[in-house]
Amino acid sequence: MTDTEQITVVKVRGRLRDIALPPRCPACGAAAHVTLRVERVFARERRRRGIMTDTMRGVTTFHVASINVPFCTACAARHMAERAASEAPPSPLRTTAAMYGIVALVALAVALIFGVFIWNELAGGWRPSLTFAASIAAGCAVFAGWFAVQAVNAWRASLTLPPTSITAAFDFGDRQARRFEPEWREYRLRHAGYARAFIQANAARLWDENGPLAARAVRLRRVADSLRLVAAAALIVVFVLLALQLQPGAP
Ligand SMILES: [Zn+2]
Repeated sequence: MTDTEQITVVKVRGRLRDIALPPRCPACGAAAHVTLRVERVFARERRRRGIMTDTMRGVTTFHVASINVPFCTACAARHMAERAASEAPPSPLRTTAAMYGIVALVALAVALIFGVFIWNELAGGWRPSLTFAASIAAGCAVFAGWFAVQAVNAWRASLTLPPTSITAAFDFGDRQARRFEPEWREYRLRHAGYARAFIQANAARLWDENGPLAARAVRLRRVADSLRLVAAAALIVVFVLLALQLQPGAP
């Protein structure tokens, strides 16, 4: 078991389901015959990127990612036994799911109240106040829909069991991608022999943080940032010109 102590971290580009899995057991390295579903929960902080909002904390959303991984029969049996022996404690994410659900319901109620108001007032013809009410109703409906989706996601995350000692041998992180980068993930593999086979199977798509693709993304980010500055400067110039034109004394 000396081969199983060190964890190998491998970064691979592409979606989780596109990853190439060697036909060996990630837990012991033997030939794999049984497929187990490996699931992980990721919390993502929703932050708005911007000049003023960088310090503002957003809403945390929860996401379940899963992949079917082949394991050997013995390890799969141990996984089942561990699952059967332990009872999962109730997840604190249930509360989060309920909270998001309540927010969604309140927003939906506000949208409905405004909707009924518009319906009742419609007989008197369309007025600017109705446009205002309609935009509030639409905004609340979108808000409610987004929170309903997050409530369902959090609920799914709350039902996801923690890994067993077997499925923990094949661990992976949340998808990563800075601006202009392709999607990539970190895979943490416990068995060194399996890790070697995994690296070989995904050799064409290993993600190199100092590679040409990452360097290209850095260059594009720089260009995009300068373009944003130029656009902001151009807007200011346009506003100044407009202000000068609007002056009463101007010809
Ligand atoms: Zn095994």
